[in-house]
Amino acid sequence: MHLWRLSDGEWKQVPIGSEGLSLRLGEDERLELVDGVAEGALALVLPVEEGGAARASLVTLSRSAAILVNAYRPLGVQILDERDEIILGDELLYFGARSPARVTRFEQTDSGARCARCKRVLHAGDAVTRCPACGAFHHAGSPAGEAEELSCWNHDARCGACARPRDGMLWSPEEEGA
Ligand SMILES: [Zn+2]
Ligand SMILES: [Zn+2]
Repeated sequence: MHLWRLSDGEWKQVPIGSEGLSLRLGEDERLELVDGVAEGALALVLPVEEGGAARASLVTLSRSAAILVNAYRPLGVQILDERDEIILGDELLYFGARSPARVTRFEQTDSGARCARCKRVLHAGDAVTRCPACGAFHHAGSPAGEAEELSCWNHDARCGACARPRDGMLWSPEEEGA
């Protein structure tokens, strides 16, 4: 997950690591995004793993910080969702939870987890793709013991769990005309 930030006229992704990302003002009063909990941080964005769906919480550390989330003053701890708009001072940021779908190896053993498309039980070592939006696992290649190529992720234009279209899950602020 990441924050979108406009720099030199271009929207760039600033990654949010497992230790979070601090928002603070530098000596020139310009916004600085620093890994982890930084000294003088006005707010902290912390990743939240919730049933596979990637989200984050924005923790406001300074009561006087001029922060708005979707045009409102955030709660002390505010859950961020995809595309949420964060304004700090005169800087505009967007929260992006989703990363492009990629093929990985299923790591759990005997978890009983099933492919969201074909509903077959997933085994450790199966090639899987997770939905960028909801995190549901899908077969990405041929499951163990199957001769035929089976890609449950590519089989349909929508995710087998959340039914969001596979195309259009990822976005950038440029598309917003922002
Ligand atoms: Zn499957
Ligand atoms: Zn999904």
